[in-house]
Amino acid sequence: MASDGPIGAANDVEQRLRETLRQTFRHDDFRTGQREAILEALAGRDVLVVMPTGSGKSLCYQLPAVMLPGTALVISPLIALMKDQVEALAALGVPATFINSSVPASELNRRLVGLAAGKYKLVYAAPERFRSEVFVETLRKAAVSLLVVDEAHCISQWGHDFRPDYLALRHVAAMFPHARIMAVTATATPDVRRDIVAQLGLGEAPRKPPATHVHGFARPNLNISVVRCRTHLEKAREVVDCIRDLGRGIVYCATTRQAERTFSMLAEQYASPLVLADRGGGGLAITVGDRRCELILYHGKLPDSARAEAHARFMEAENPVVVATVAFGMGIDRPDLRFVVHWDMPGSIEAYYQEIGRAGRDGKPSRCRLLFNYADVHTQEFLLGNASDNADQPSEDAAEFLATKRRKLDEMLAFVDTRKCRHRFILDYFGEDTSGMPCPGCDNCGGAAGAARPLTEPQWTILQKVLSCVARMKGRFGPRRIAQVLTGDDDPVLEEKGLTALSTYGILQGFPIPTIYRLLDALAAAGCIEVSDDAYHLMSITPKGVSVARRQLRDFAIPWPASDRRPPSGRRRKKWYNG
Ligand code: ADP
Ligand code: MG
Ligand code: ZN
Repeated sequence: MASDGPIGAANDVEQRLRETLRQTFRHDDFRTGQREAILEALAGRDVLVVMPTGSGKSLCYQLPAVMLPGTALVISPLIALMKDQVEALAALGVPATFINSSVPASELNRRLVGLAAGKYKLVYAAPERFRSEVFVETLRKAAVSLLVVDEAHCISQWGHDFRPDYLALRHVAAMFPHARIMAVTATATPDVRRDIVAQLGLGEAPRKPPATHVHGFARPNLNISVVRCRTHLEKAREVVDCIRDLGRGIVYCATTRQAERTFSMLAEQYASPLVLADRGGGGLAITVGDRRCELILYHGKLPDSARAEAHARFMEAENPVVVATVAFGMGIDRPDLRFVVHWDMPGSIEAYYQEIGRAGRDGKPSRCRLLFNYADVHTQEFLLGNASDNADQPSEDAAEFLATKRRKLDEMLAFVDTRKCRHRFILDYFGEDTSGMPCPGCDNCGGAAGAARPLTEPQWTILQKVLSCVARMKGRFGPRRIAQVLTGDDDPVLEEKGLTALSTYGILQGFPIPTIYRLLDALAAAGCIEVSDDAYHLMSITPKGVSVARRQLRDFAIPWPASDRRPPSGRRRKKWYNG
């Protein structure tokens, strides 16, 4: 992987890498992902590094900067952080400097002369700097071997931090065709990743195809489930269970109004009337089971003082239960929250991931429950409608903006509907490699709600029918067709494809189709069915599946799906099961 040279050369690189890590940076070992990204850069490839905040992205470019000849130019929008980084490097004996608006003119000149003379291993600059001709001319004289774009998501209009100045970086990249580019960010949605690659021209001739490294997004201590709730009462029960079992956490609501309602509902039921009457700012003592907690309301429409008070109570209380809108987000650094409940569905996977990420920062087991009701889709669509009314967006942009939001909402719905491992779904979305990853705990894998139980006789019969149908369809169809054949659907396509002639046609007539989907997924999770890795989800039986169908594995168990009471959702079902 390291280079195209012989193995000896690769070992040599590896050894120099470790020496630099220890001697210059004074770390004992690499963190996950760092070594891989560094090796790619040293080998001359462009690299997109996506790792969460605090995971050590700086080292991914600082170390190659030190090892490579010439200078690394680091573009960063965070002027305040440049100074810190440069000072930290200076303390390690690495010559580095920064060039931004905070530097007085005479000093700036001195630094530019130093840059042209190759005096620095790293030079940090803000993207606005490229408006300065003097700076660009100086760069032309410098030997730039590595171009780093930190906070690279700023180049994407889909990112929440879009900086128009980042668009100019394309020209900067073109100035240094022989330098490798490292784009670094903690935000890695598929569209942002695509944008970074396209906008920076990574992989465009004569550049080699870029490498992407996504690491560190797994949160194995979170147990993730989606709980379908028909009423608010059912949702309230889930929340109360979490409070009683776990004590500390956040209940996220989509709107201020819902946050207030949920707060009042909990307050009325679990606070003593005395406390209720005496309510000042901040929290409210409630008792749920044996648990004494402090119920706190937080949303953006509260006056500043009330928000500050709520935040202070949240930090101080032993068992804070915060009922909040997404306004409750910044500066939450309480590591010991044991649950995050979503009363309403968030509008995107990234929002969801960020919000559940506030549970269990200490690494201890924590619970994440998304309470789902089809009405929530309408709430989100309503919020979408409001967003599109925002008058400060030019109309074309607004249409584009709306389409993105809608796509993100569809992705979120796919998450709700998926039968795949929830952790895997999220990591796949962010582009992290999940091959061989065992499920750390989710409802779809049976970690939470439905544990695997030995099968009853009627269940065995159903499984045998399902598996023999999969076997007879010979890996050429997905779950939809399989379910159609099992239930004896009169769709003419089945006849055309010769599927009505199968002996398994109609052997589960009247059986609920959603349950068949769930069974197929449970069988896939148990290794009895293999599913193709494309949009078609073509299913074929595995040797284990054959043994199970023959009842040769007597201890075989899967979490049997509960019957599904959801209203039919033909449109999406078609989209996700187009076998
Ligand atoms: P990011 O940019 O990903 O948010 P930083 O690069 O600022 O994170 O690094 C966060 C912290 O991790 C820094 O204090 C850094 O010194 C430390 N760090 C980075 N790599 C290692 C390592 N291999 N071993 C130990 N500490 C590390
Ligand atoms: Mg950083
Ligand atoms: Zn799972």
